[in-house]
Amino acid sequence: MAAPKKTTLKAPKPLVAGNWKMNGTTASLGEVKKLARALAKKKNKAKCEVMICPPATLLAPMKALKAKGVALGGQDCHAANSGAHTGDVSAAMLKDAGATAVILGHSERRADHLETDKQVKAKVGAAHGAGLLAIMCVGESLKQRKSGDTLKVVKAQLRGSLMDDCTAKNTVIAYEPVWAIGSGLTPTVEQVEEVHTALRKALVRRFGDEGAKMRILYGGSVKPANAAELMAVPNVNGTLVGGASLTAKDFGGIVKAYA
Ligand code: PEP
Repeated sequence: MAAPKKTTLKAPKPLVAGNWKMNGTTASLGEVKKLARALAKKKNKAKCEVMICPPATLLAPMKALKAKGVALGGQDCHAANSGAHTGDVSAAMLKDAGATAVILGHSERRADHLETDKQVKAKVGAAHGAGLLAIMCVGESLKQRKSGDTLKVVKAQLRGSLMDDCTAKNTVIAYEPVWAIGSGLTPTVEQVEEVHTALRKALVRRFGDEGAKMRILYGGSVKPANAAELMAVPNVNGTLVGGASLTAKDFGGIVKAYA
């Protein structure tokens, strides 16, 4: 009988992505230059990918900076390629402006724009269609955590918001407890591990080896002071950072968790 095929799965390169949200004008471009300069120093050589997701208005000016070592992402896209959707931006437009990725299903979009899993799933498909990495967010509210529903909630979001053809190359999951975003509160490492383990199992069940390799980021009040501890949790493959990504000093301090 032939020996069973050995599968050696390469550990995914972690991703540290900054979500600038609705912050920043061209006056903020200096922070990106500073970050790129810091990352270029040998002592800071990060063993992770570094990305900034600015407002769409700053993608092209950031691309023009040619900031080596800093990839760019959008914060949302429409599910359609083009058409009568005033104020929206398509995945192809983000790509054209310099993005290689897009955040989708962030809790602020789910809350402010009532985005459903079905809509997020369609956006994930649009991102893939345009050749963008989809960074798809899940996370429970404080009420859901207190009632013991965390795993049920995040697994349902995961199931409902992903296309069947997701791979480790075109999709990243971000676990962001809603109550930890911008609050200064973070879950314990045990709580983070519990959720990331459950997400990993669900990803492997659905996508096999691709699910085993898919990066799962933790996001919510990550700072230079807590980054190393959170990034060391099993199945945490990087982070999505809001407030602390706005300055090169803090964001660089978080990237150092992987130096
Ligand atoms: C976010 O909104 O994606 C986020 C993680 O925010 P903060 O780091 O500010 O909590």
